[in-house]
Amino acid sequence: MTPSFPHLLSPLDVGPVTLRNRVVMGSMHTGLEDRARNTRRLAAFYAERARGGVGLIVTGGYAPNRTGWLLPFGAKLTNRFEARRHRAITAAVHDAGGRIALQILHAGRYSYQPLSVSASSIKAPINPFRPRRLTARGVRWQLRNFVRCATLAQSAGYDGVEIMGGEGYFINQFLCERTNRRRDEWGGTPEKRRRLAVEIVRRTRAAVGPDFLILFRLSMADLVEGGQTWDEIVALAQEIETAGANVINTDIGWHESRVPTIVTSVPRAAFVDVTEKLAKHVSIPVVASNRINMPEVAEEILERGAAQLISMARPMLADPDWVRKAEAGNSDEINTCIACNQACLDHAFANEHVSCLLNPRAGRETELTLLPTRRKKRVAVVGAGPAGLAAALNLAERGHAVTLFEARDDIGGQFAIARRIPGKEEFAETVRYYRRRLDRTGVDLRLGTRITAPELLDSRFAEVVVATGVTPRIPDIPGIDHPSVLSYADVVRDGAPVGRRVAVIGAGGIGVDVSEFLTHDHSPTLDLAAWKREWGVTDPEAAPGALTTPQPAPSPREVFLLQRSPGRIGAGLAKTTGWVHRATLKAKGVQEISGVTYDRVDDAGLHITVDGRSRLLAVDTVVVCAGQESVRDLVDELTVAGMPTHVIGGADVAAELDAKRAIEQGTRLAARI
Ligand code: FAD
Ligand code: NAP
Ligand code: SF4
Repeated sequence: MTPSFPHLLSPLDVGPVTLRNRVVMGSMHTGLEDRARNTRRLAAFYAERARGGVGLIVTGGYAPNRTGWLLPFGAKLTNRFEARRHRAITAAVHDAGGRIALQILHAGRYSYQPLSVSASSIKAPINPFRPRRLTARGVRWQLRNFVRCATLAQSAGYDGVEIMGGEGYFINQFLCERTNRRRDEWGGTPEKRRRLAVEIVRRTRAAVGPDFLILFRLSMADLVEGGQTWDEIVALAQEIETAGANVINTDIGWHESRVPTIVTSVPRAAFVDVTEKLAKHVSIPVVASNRINMPEVAEEILERGAAQLISMARPMLADPDWVRKAEAGNSDEINTCIACNQACLDHAFANEHVSCLLNPRAGRETELTLLPTRRKKRVAVVGAGPAGLAAALNLAERGHAVTLFEARDDIGGQFAIARRIPGKEEFAETVRYYRRRLDRTGVDLRLGTRITAPELLDSRFAEVVVATGVTPRIPDIPGIDHPSVLSYADVVRDGAPVGRRVAVIGAGGIGVDVSEFLTHDHSPTLDLAAWKREWGVTDPEAAPGALTTPQPAPSPREVFLLQRSPGRIGAGLAKTTGWVHRATLKAKGVQEISGVTYDRVDDAGLHITVDGRSRLLAVDTVVVCAGQESVRDLVDELTVAGMPTHVIGGADVAAELDAKRAIEQGTRLAARI
């Protein structure tokens, strides 16, 4: 028994199998499922997580037929030929000591293609394709396809299947009056709406026999109007258990919900109380899910009996050795998922393969390898922002002797500014991870050292990595040196005082973040009750769908967010998180103005022209978030002197820089030296 996390790391008998611990790697669609040629990569991806100690892996979703595709020609499991390919995956996981279940996912009206079907012909607000209403015969055909998919998974060597019954997908669409207006045996009353879900489980159990796991992903809070009542959810869970499921997994919110459920501003374990409430009504194990990313959080949930298993999907992308590190009592060495979505869900929605901002090897295990070096070198890395940190740590892990110079008195660079934005507190975990791992790998970290080119040349390093990052751009506006003008770094990092009326120049990612910073009251931690009030989330027993009226806390300041370009503010923000930022700014009353010309700053405030008309914004403070410029002052001198020099991150290119690019560039360079 491990002293640190005794509940998390204890085995659990689940129906026919014994899981070695309570960690379930939740289903993630990586994009590798969609093409047969990527099977080897997918097997390597899962095997690495199995070697890392995960108790049970759930694959990305496979459709039981073409009508259930997420995307045209997406992943499906419908015949023996396809099933045979899966043997490479199940064998790789079993050889690594793991267990794996295949998720059966029918997208229903979320299927992004003209063949989509659903309980009723009601278009989803997030999909241009209107689904065809299934006939009663059509429903029975779908049911048989679910069962066929499960038996094929069994023949391919999987330990079980997870039937996706939540997230607003096909089965969930049958469960809710919002999307099921049928009056036949598949709709009209809660019992009839539940019938499809229950029949799928019952007939699957009959087909696969007792020695095969069946998990059911159950929507415990739909977070949409017209969602299920609590009584309906409890009845469904009980009927699913009776029908033969071994485990009930938590699902929260439909894709079309107005409430965020997994982005970084959602407090950790925000929905565990719902799982705990449901667990009291069934006797099979229940899995807690959503925004659980560290062993301490998982252990607390299990210890108080709120759930018997913990599902984590993205945390296993960020760190495949998550479980091993918890077992060794080294949770402070875990590369903690910061719930940014930038390389996982945002990639999935852009139809790109999923990876991780923090761990660019995720999904590329066969391609991006970091083997021990055969020729140890003395390497200097200049700059401890994300690019320099990734390069320094990976070089040291490969066996090089690394000296890391940082001008400031702590590591993190611009990322250390990001962590001060409300809702981005998780970013501090990345700084903690690097601090700890640099220490463990023996990187010679020189803080408070603004190193110069002559000093680097004198020290006779074999190679130098320049990761000196970026500095805020100061736009050429008359009066920009007025005392009321501050940079985002002055405000967020250095705590410069800001007045009650503020204009923010520049509405990119940082302008939006700074506007959030200025409109929040800065409570020390993410307060779950306040977050629920802000987004209008209530006890599912109090209202169907668990929704109530949002009550955002008022902003302490009046904020104007400005950009020169025409069009919507925040249009360039990421798909899965941009809408959350836009909703927050709206709720805080931020006034957004596009198509602005900045005329001057003076004692009266910021003078602008919009649509040919001059306007004065009588603000106390102007915060500049007008992009950045590369810091490259070392590069020429080093290169001219013949020093092998590599330039990465913002020092390389400032435009469209983010931590994803910085870390990937640092990691790929470290793999080459
Ligand atoms: P930097 O982070 O700029 O690091 C460079 C480092 O080099 C600095 O620490 C600097 O002190 C040091 N240095 C410079 N010259 C020397 C020298 N001569 N000697 C020693 N040290 C030196 N990105 C995302 O991907 N997602 C986000 O959500 C996100 N949010 C953000 C929010 C805010 C408010 C801000 C400011 C940034 C955000 N970013 C985000 C951007 C991200 O932080 C940057 O893209 C990233 O930090 C760039 O990494 P870098 O290592 O290239 O440079
Ligand atoms: P950015 O996204 O390039 O935005 C810069 C803003 O400044 C734009 O609104 C631009 O719009 C304006 N601007 C540019 N030059 C200007 C000038 N000379 N005068 C006045 N305004 C000017 O850059 P950023 O906001 O600084 O963000 C930097 C990087 O960090 C981004 O690339 C982003 O990827 C990353 N980041 C990501 C997130 C995230 O959540 N993923 C959050 C924060 C930052 P106009 O030209 O229209 O005025
Ligand atoms: Fe987590 Fe961000 Fe990595 Fe996705 S990209 S796994 S959200 S850290």
